[in-house]
Amino acid sequence: MLRTLPSKFLKLITISLIGIALTLTIGACEHLSQFLPVASPTATPTEPATVSPAAGSTFVELPALPYAYNALEPYIDAQTMEIHHSKHHAAYVNKLNEVIQQYPDLQTQTVVSLLQSLESLPEEIRSTVRNNGGGHLNHSMFWQIMAPNSGGTPSGELATALDQTFGSFDAFKQQFNQAGAGQFGSGWVWLAMNPQGQLQIVTTSNQDSPILENLYPILGNDVWEHAYYLQYQNRRPEYLDRWWNVVNWPEVERRFAQAQELQQQLAS
Ligand code: MN
Repeated sequence: MLRTLPSKFLKLITISLIGIALTLTIGACEHLSQFLPVASPTATPTEPATVSPAAGSTFVELPALPYAYNALEPYIDAQTMEIHHSKHHAAYVNKLNEVIQQYPDLQTQTVVSLLQSLESLPEEIRSTVRNNGGGHLNHSMFWQIMAPNSGGTPSGELATALDQTFGSFDAFKQQFNQAGAGQFGSGWVWLAMNPQGQLQIVTTSNQDSPILENLYPILGNDVWEHAYYLQYQNRRPEYLDRWWNVVNWPEVERRFAQAQELQQQLAS
């Protein structure tokens, strides 16, 4: 039974994603949905942040930041946010579009489904899709799970689950920070849910998404140097520590509920 859970979990994720995609009517937006939330209605108006993809490349689009580049100061500086979003994330989007443009058969898929079936992709594009599809997915989540005037502590079922799994919220943060600081080289640190419904802290290298390991990403922090170096230089632990001040808990709680829903469908 357990052996069949992962593929079922993936199927459920896929089915749910298709459902989300169907509710979106704006052209290419369906490719942005995946695990991603609909933009928060509380988002503040911001400077133009959308960078148009190259002509003819519309598989995915760079989502607009739901706040201004300087909105997360003093914890993340405006220049880092601008370069991170308009250069790094944009580059993942453009590279993914470039490669998918050459494979029309793949254009009907979502980024998640591509990542879930990497082995079936032509070998010559597999690592490009893994890196840039993962980069797009990870960053699209990252912008949403942060917000100005946020931080604090989670509430509701997520708070309970964190207490039960890690002992306390502080213990969770400490383990998460430790894992993030210990990730050698570029990568991410995650809070993710496994197919059994358990929360775990995991790290991934490069732009690998937890979905490659059949884990549902609930919260993730980017520990590539491009995410913090201008302000924190080599002090990654300080960045990890201060980052909690910009975590958008309502959005993280929404993602947790979504993961639980998928997991419960699996269990029933
Ligand atoms: Mn990044």
